Amino acid sequence: MPDQPRSFRIEAVVIRHANWGEADRILAIYSRERGKIRVIAKGARKIRSRKAGHLEPFTHITIQLAKSRDLPIVTQVETLDAYLPLREDLVRTGYASYLMELLDRLTYEEEGGNPALFRLLTDSLARLCQEADPWLAIRYYEMRLLDFLGFRPQLFECANCRSKIEPVDQYFSPSMGGVICPKCGSGLPGLWSVSLEALKYLRHFQRSSYGEASRARVPPDVQKEVEALVQAYFTYLLERELNTPGFIKRVKA
Ligand SMILES: [Zn+2]
Repeated sequence: MPDQPRSFRIEAVVIRHANWGEADRILAIYSRERGKIRVIAKGARKIRSRKAGHLEPFTHITIQLAKSRDLPIVTQVETLDAYLPLREDLVRTGYASYLMELLDRLTYEEEGGNPALFRLLTDSLARLCQEADPWLAIRYYEMRLLDFLGFRPQLFECANCRSKIEPVDQYFSPSMGGVICPKCGSGLPGLWSVSLEALKYLRHFQRSSYGEASRARVPPDVQKEVEALVQAYFTYLLERELNTPGFIKRVKA
C-alpha cells in the first residue's frame, strides 16, 4: 500500500482548463491559500460528471484536493459563485477572460497565496456582474493588480528626476515605470504622452477605494486614453500582446 494521499481544502477561482487524456481535465486555479496552482479533475469530461459544471473558468469554488505524486487530484468541489451574468453576455465574458488572462500571465506557480489579491479577483468578478458599465471595475482591477504584483506605476513624481509632477500634460515611460516630467521628456526615447486629465484619473484610481473611485465620471475620450495607456503598459510588461482586448473589440463590433 502506498501512503494515503493527504487531503487539503482551498478556496479558488478557476483560471482555465485543458483536456487531459480520455476523460480528465487539468485546471489552473488561483487560490487564496496557495496562489496559482494546477490540479487534475479525473473523469471531468464524462457526460454525467458532477464536477464539470463547477470547474468552468472564472467560477469561485471551494475545492478538496488529494496530494499525489503528480498534480493534486480534485476529490470534491462546490461552487460559491458561478457569476452567471458573465456567462450570459459575450462582452462580459470577454471582460472576465481579460481579468483572468492578466492574472495568469503575471503570476507564477509556487508564488504562494495572496489573500488581498484573491479578494480583488472575486470582488472584481462580482463588479463585472453588477455594474451597468464595468469600465471602472476593470481599470480598478488593473491598477490594484499592478500594486500587488510589484509594478505600481509612479504617478506622483517624475520617474526620472523625482521632481513633483506639476498639473500639465506629461509623458509616461513604460521602462522606467512611471510619469516623466516635460523637462526630462524632451531628452528621453520611447515615451508616450499622457494628458493631465488621464493622469488625474489614474492617480485617483491608484489611491482610492473602489467606492471612491467609482464615483468618478470619466469623459469617454479620457476613458479611451486611460485604457490605451494601461493596456500598453501591461503589453510592455508582458513583452507581447494580450489576447483578450482584441477579442473584446471584435465581439463589440
Ligand atoms: Zn523629470
